[in-house]
Amino acid sequence: NEFEDYFLKRELLMGIYEKGFEKPSPIQEESIPIALTGSDILARAKNGTGKTAAFCIPALEKIDHDKNVIQVVILVPTRELALQTSQVCKELGKHLKTQVMVTTGGTSLKDDIMRLYQPVHLLVGTPGRILDLAKKGICKLDDCAMLAMDEADKLLSPEFQPSVEELIHFMPTNRQILMFSATFPVTVKDFKDRFLKKPYVINL
Ligand code: AMP
Repeated sequence: NEFEDYFLKRELLMGIYEKGFEKPSPIQEESIPIALTGSDILARAKNGTGKTAAFCIPALEKIDHDKNVIQVVILVPTRELALQTSQVCKELGKHLKTQVMVTTGGTSLKDDIMRLYQPVHLLVGTPGRILDLAKKGICKLDDCAMLAMDEADKLLSPEFQPSVEELIHFMPTNRQILMFSATFPVTVKDFKDRFLKKPYVINL
């Protein structure tokens, strides 16, 4: 398998190769073609397997930068992971015109509001802050066609789960969900049953 096999935008393929990726890792080989078809995914994947690119590549491929709306949300449990993930998106999307924004708790809400006046295509952040912005009507998720959840087991801990579920209701019903989790506790299975549509399950 090669990255060329996925018929990605040329600019995205350039970003992938410039990042030094030669071939898709096993998790990428399983998830990228499925995600590109629009199917929901539940994947068991540990850190270090290349899971970040496994959802960032399909996300970047699907974004139409001529539409100035949020088209993808990547949810993560911590600010550190949000910053790392947005960095991966920016590097892979270096030759695309995709605007990436990070938003997490513990930073100025006012700054986030100012930044949301500018075009944003891909939003990476923690559930509480994104929900805050959605409820205020500042962050519009009506055109968000894809939700990626990294460390889904942590996102579905009691601390975050209510916000995650509330947030999903701001998105269109036909949105695609890509869930990545190191473990599959009952909270993840329950969420899958309630929110994912015929998910493709990857268990590496
Ligand atoms: P992750 O599991 O997403 O944290 O990625 C772990 C490390 O693998 C990161 O340093 C990535 O840059 C790297 N990586 C991801 N995909 C590939 C690939 N296809 N080829 C080489 N390195 C990769």
